[in-house]
Amino acid sequence: VKLQQRIAVRTLVETVLRAGDLEMVFMNPARPLEGIRIHQKIQQSRPAGYQAEVSVNHEVKTEKIDLVIGGRIDGVFTTDDGAIVEEIKSTTRDPAALEAWDNPVHWGQVKVYAYFYALAHDLGALTTQLTYCHVDSGEIIEKQEHFLRTELAEFFDDVLNRYMQWAETVGDWMLARDFSIRELEFPFESYRPGQRQMAVAVYRAIRDGEQLMTEAATGIGKTMAALFPAIKAQPDGWAGKIFYLSARTTGKAAAEQAIGELRRKGLKLKSITLTAKDKICFCPEAACTAAECEFAQGFYDRINAALGDIFQHDLFDRDAIEHTAEAHRICPFEFSLELSLWSDCIVCDYNYAFDPRVYLRRFFVEANEDYVFLVDEAHNLPDRARDMFSARITKQPFLDVRRQLKDELPNLYSLLGRINTRLVKARNTCRENGGEWVEKEPPNGLYALLRKFLQGAEKWLAQNVKTPFRQDLLDLYFEGNNFVRVFDQFNDTYAVCHETDHKDLSVKLFCMDPSLQMREALTRCRSAVFFSATLRPPNYYQKLSGCSDDMRHVVIPSPFPRDNLSLLLANGISTLYNRRNDTKVAVARAILELVRQKQGNYLIFFPSYAYMAMVYELVEPNATDVDLRCQIPDMPESERDRFLSEFTVGRQDTLVGFVVMGGIFGEGIDLTGDRLTGAAIVGVGLPGICSERELIREYFDESLNAGFDYAYRFPGLARVFQAAGRVIRSEHDRGVVLLIDERFGTYRYRQLFPPHWQPITLRGERAVERNLHKFWMNVGK
Ligand code: SF4
Repeated sequence: VKLQQRIAVRTLVETVLRAGDLEMVFMNPARPLEGIRIHQKIQQSRPAGYQAEVSVNHEVKTEKIDLVIGGRIDGVFTTDDGAIVEEIKSTTRDPAALEAWDNPVHWGQVKVYAYFYALAHDLGALTTQLTYCHVDSGEIIEKQEHFLRTELAEFFDDVLNRYMQWAETVGDWMLARDFSIRELEFPFESYRPGQRQMAVAVYRAIRDGEQLMTEAATGIGKTMAALFPAIKAQPDGWAGKIFYLSARTTGKAAAEQAIGELRRKGLKLKSITLTAKDKICFCPEAACTAAECEFAQGFYDRINAALGDIFQHDLFDRDAIEHTAEAHRICPFEFSLELSLWSDCIVCDYNYAFDPRVYLRRFFVEANEDYVFLVDEAHNLPDRARDMFSARITKQPFLDVRRQLKDELPNLYSLLGRINTRLVKARNTCRENGGEWVEKEPPNGLYALLRKFLQGAEKWLAQNVKTPFRQDLLDLYFEGNNFVRVFDQFNDTYAVCHETDHKDLSVKLFCMDPSLQMREALTRCRSAVFFSATLRPPNYYQKLSGCSDDMRHVVIPSPFPRDNLSLLLANGISTLYNRRNDTKVAVARAILELVRQKQGNYLIFFPSYAYMAMVYELVEPNATDVDLRCQIPDMPESERDRFLSEFTVGRQDTLVGFVVMGGIFGEGIDLTGDRLTGAAIVGVGLPGICSERELIREYFDESLNAGFDYAYRFPGLARVFQAAGRVIRSEHDRGVVLLIDERFGTYRYRQLFPPHWQPITLRGERAVERNLHKFWMNVGK
């Protein structure tokens, strides 16, 4: 079988000819658009007879590969002295430095275009021209070189031969990969109940290039049910690359583990897990420039050797990436991004696919493959999407940076002074409004000043001058850049939230409804699968995740025997904020009654720390027979692990952990079997009232007449379902969940319960005891 491959001239040349240091490119948000405008302006200014956007194609056939190399020449002049092939580049580089700048990739690109043009028009010689245009000043620098066709042929052959070595390595790999996938069988003896149904739905969605939302209980093996069919779809070209997107480390680890299982069954698949830059960086104190970081220095001279090395393996996890990057003295983060281009499956955070600040441009701007997004724990997406499409600046850094650069950069100093004055004014208004102030109109004056600041900062940063304030200015530049980029999309789905705390002020462009941006982000893939145990109601998640109206929706019924879960409802207790004092004794009593029915480990979920403390105070003096633990705010990872490590099987006493819903214990923890006997959920999980939630409420009241649902009830229920989902993790688990809140008994809530949730309403004295005695007797636990 021969491999068919298409490649752009630019990618071909870049892959072979890139050399030198890793360069930090400063691009303000308008730059790609500005680049296009500059191109068009130059093309339009050319004389009659000039042809713009000339397509060229060239085919190369070898024993193993049929390669089509294509691209578009920016323009061709036809003169009395022959043809001139032009390549236009917009740049922020200092025009003075451009004269001496010989970029081998730019020259390579125009020379390959020229060669293809000469072949197509049977020309014996022609001229190549590189035209640089400086984006700020508009200054144009043109460089020309004349070549015989034989010289261009020689150059192209050399580039091609070097590329072919790599292409054949990749080609051999793809054939081996596809063969292994065709032979691959499901890695376990049988599917878990419900798992096959989900896998089939995923396969069909990917085959048909559709979007799918799947709700399936924890424990059916969703990760494998999503990955296995996606991988099976690769040899048919329906899943060029798989992006396994997860918000949590545990989710990414589960994906790695599932791919590992498949590898043990013979799968050949290159998979990579992307680690955030600040975690994997070798020089956290340095800027990403050759002057400050030795791993940026000569990065492109060594990257191809590093790629060749690591490509001998299939698993590109953090260890492998760090090890190879260290050995070749290259930046591990940039290396991982480059490596992802050659991986079949990319396991990463949501933001690499969705967040405009970090998404993988090398995939989504230039390449055009058939990507598949597998979105794990998709109930997290609405809030994460709001974060990704919002932007915030704070006043203090502007002042700090201003003080530092006073003597050296007077223009920036003065601009930062004007920005600070504006922020001081906003802070005063904010104070007058009690510390918080919301505006619906965009801050146009601030925006104009920020843009000027970015332009000035960009110019200076591009010179890579090492000064003590450089890093702070760089951080401020990125913050301002993000703010300006979001500002450019400001519409009625946004509001401006000001908040002051002592001297500082934060200004946030808050995205209330991220559905439009998400819809646009989803055009980057051919097919997207969203899955979670909790996607109720589906139209809420469908809307906020930007899914199409005709997306498929599949609910996999819980495969576990209903009798394995005792779901009790204490609906005589109100947990409304203003009733908490009156009912706290009843809540404490219900908790104690629950944990005394059977020795074991329990988690008690509260909507806030304050409420948790209020009830803990009452439980603690009466709980001499049980061991109590309490979550603390901002609990470090080590403390969290220690907390969970106490939930062991075979303890002599009963352990009760007080935790908050939606926090680090609310989801993503896996206490299987007897490690968790039961849970109590106090309240319906509503997020705390704050100005942002109120804005969401107002917005969706106006647009859908569903403000409270979108701001509070639906996100709250997701927390409740997630918390309850900690108890039954497999078909062998038995456990109890006690819901404490009268609202759970109302139709508004019960209509959203999963079908297998049929709570028993507690009535009368010692109702918990009566019900659980029977339950624990029956399961013989
Ligand atoms: S190692 Fe760190 S500082 Fe150096 S280039 Fe990479 S990310 Fe930047």
